[in-house]
Amino acid sequence: MSTLTNNHTLIAADAAAVALADRVIAGLGLPGDGIEVEDPATSERIAFIEDIHVDGALQAVATAHEAGRSWARTTPRQRADVLHAWHALLVEHTEDLAHLISREMGKPLAEARGEVKYGSDFVRWYAEEAVRPAGNFREAPDGGASIVTRRAPVGLAVLITPWNFPLAMATRKIAPALAAGCPSVIKPANLTPLTTIFAVELARRAGVPADLVQVVTTSNASQFSEAVLRDERVRKVSFTGSTEVGRTLLRLASDTVLRSSMELGGNAPLIVFDDADLDRAIEGTMAAKLRNGGQSCIGANRIYVQNGIAAAFAEGLAERIGAVAVGAGLGSGTELGPLIDDRAVRQMRAFTNDAVARGAELLTGGTELGPVGHFFAPTVLDRVPPDAEVACTEIFGPIAAIQRFDSEAEVVARANATEFGLAGYVFSENIDRALNVADRLETGLVGINQGVPSNAAAPFGGVKQSGLGREGSSEGMEEYQSVRFYNIARR
Ligand code: NAD
Repeated sequence: MSTLTNNHTLIAADAAAVALADRVIAGLGLPGDGIEVEDPATSERIAFIEDIHVDGALQAVATAHEAGRSWARTTPRQRADVLHAWHALLVEHTEDLAHLISREMGKPLAEARGEVKYGSDFVRWYAEEAVRPAGNFREAPDGGASIVTRRAPVGLAVLITPWNFPLAMATRKIAPALAAGCPSVIKPANLTPLTTIFAVELARRAGVPADLVQVVTTSNASQFSEAVLRDERVRKVSFTGSTEVGRTLLRLASDTVLRSSMELGGNAPLIVFDDADLDRAIEGTMAAKLRNGGQSCIGANRIYVQNGIAAAFAEGLAERIGAVAVGAGLGSGTELGPLIDDRAVRQMRAFTNDAVARGAELLTGGTELGPVGHFFAPTVLDRVPPDAEVACTEIFGPIAAIQRFDSEAEVVARANATEFGLAGYVFSENIDRALNVADRLETGLVGINQGVPSNAAAPFGGVKQSGLGREGSSEGMEEYQSVRFYNIARR
């Protein structure tokens, strides 16, 4: 390709959509000072949230713990009914939630609506899961005993979430904790706390006891975790965020041998074989790369394309990505929103410069977009060398970095040459090949001929340094339960 298609004009936010989001914020009853929350499309301050210090966090632990005593004694059906009611309220407030997500996080409204669907699906899933059998029965092999297992709530859970999916990351933790019978203290990211605050308010309106789920917002996250994770009333930590912070939390968790779930960073390979359907592969890559502006832990990070199809794929992808409409999430027709902050924009610029300096070809994008907000043009780099930063680091932005390959064995080895192992993607019309390659990828999940593999019914999580434990599905509930057994003597 010779021409660059990066003359994006930013779409401005729609005033009525902003007004709707701001009405929801006004209804949250937030304080007039504290930690500032900004709109990443304009850098405008949209709210203050409380800065809760250690004493307040420990008070939240005490309050949730106390409320947890009676919650643990509720019946599965009672818990299910409350979760169903919460799901209904989340669905009823889809527009409020979607506008709020867009306003504080920046994603396009259509994607924000998708997050409301995805996030509320977890609540419905765990409403259903709450009443499913949670134990089993077996005979001891020597016939001398019957062994009955049951699952008990693990206890108070501390939930720490990132900014990129402010609703779904919260419901994916709160809902299984509630279904299992556990109280929780959730600390959302300071960049996007409003959605979590509103979602928990809806949970209370649905019948979740007021004290059972505590939201703690704080400017001092490390002080928070050092105090709270050492409190012996806390029995579980579930974290979604960077691998670096995950390691710190695991070290802290070791002091009290705390049950830990860690959903950490990724470096997903996306592999396109010569026998892939070109259009399907390009559409799947668009979704796996540009969903959430590329700010997703399962975002396609290293795009490997087999030599026979590489030129057509790169050209087709650059054409599609170059034509994407960029602007405020609350703008009409926006397909790609801003990045979360300026640091992310500078990082995209550095990735692009480094790759081009090492010989990559810039097919489209590669520039900051302004004048306000944190925008970077959707970018395609071809023939990226494997040692370029963009090929070794989690990108977390709208850069598609293409590398080329010859053989199946070569690409599997290259795909696995990373300490991360969250998601992978394979595109091939030969299902045997696709499944064989998927089997050999060292990842927790694989999208086959599709770019959006997440689902409330699927056990989401990573291997290697991408994490411990699973979220979603029945496995996600087991994270909040401890297994006990009764050994009943038989004669
Ligand atoms: P981050 O690790 O900086 O922050 C995540 C959360 O942890 C935030 O709430 C933050 O305030 C909090 N935090 C930071 N330091 C802490 C400490 N010492 N003690 C307690 N809490 C602390 O990550 P981020 O920038 O918000 O999110 C991006 C990262 O999250 C990426 O690496 C991405 O891959 C990862 N992520 C993973 C998944 C997954 O399911 N595997 C999903 C989304 C995001």
